[in-house]
Amino acid sequence: MTATIALATSNEGKREELARLFDGLDIELVLPSASVMSEIEETGLTFIENALIKARAVSALTQLPTIADDSGLSVEALNGIPGIHSARYAGEPSDAARNNEKLLATMHDVPDGKRSASFQCVLVYLRYQDDPVPLIGIGSWEGEILREPRGNQGFGYDPLFFVSGLKRTAAELSTVEKNAISHRAKAAEQLFAKLQYEH
Ligand code: IMP
Repeated sequence: MTATIALATSNEGKREELARLFDGLDIELVLPSASVMSEIEETGLTFIENALIKARAVSALTQLPTIADDSGLSVEALNGIPGIHSARYAGEPSDAARNNEKLLATMHDVPDGKRSASFQCVLVYLRYQDDPVPLIGIGSWEGEILREPRGNQGFGYDPLFFVSGLKRTAAELSTVEKNAISHRAKAAEQLFAKLQYEH
């Protein structure tokens, strides 16, 4: 039987990647509007807390089981910044180009060889608004921050995120290639392993 699940994100990049990761599962995804998502205050201090806040709000609204993604970039030389503030690193409204410019400026003096970073992703699944036992998947993806953007696929910090094994930035990968190795793919794999016992 097809399960109907709400997906608590209005980020187009995330939606596209997640929709493809969900391909093959017997799930119909319901997508809340951008205005609904923009009213949710992400007041948590961790990706896990913020993912739960988003999932809880959307589940309350839709009365559906809900999956939420909270993710971001963690730069080693900046002690994990921008972290949970990745979407609005350069202020409101969220703007990827301005975020990338700010990151490049902040890291101007960080030498090559010390520019390690990771993308982090938490996916949570709530069966209903007050579900006390959420299912959680967590994934990370290691890379380095370049000195200028490269590539025009993906979203967010992808053009600055260099994957040494592939010698390409995340923005030079197709969605299929990114979905084979990304933080989001690893989190989805963990979550799906748990979800298969639900439906
Ligand atoms: P959230 O919507 O509050 O979880 O913020 C996520 C932010 O982290 C995005 O707006 C991007 O800035 C960044 N981010 C998360 N995942 C990715 C990714 O796969 N590529 C590039 N940037 C990402």
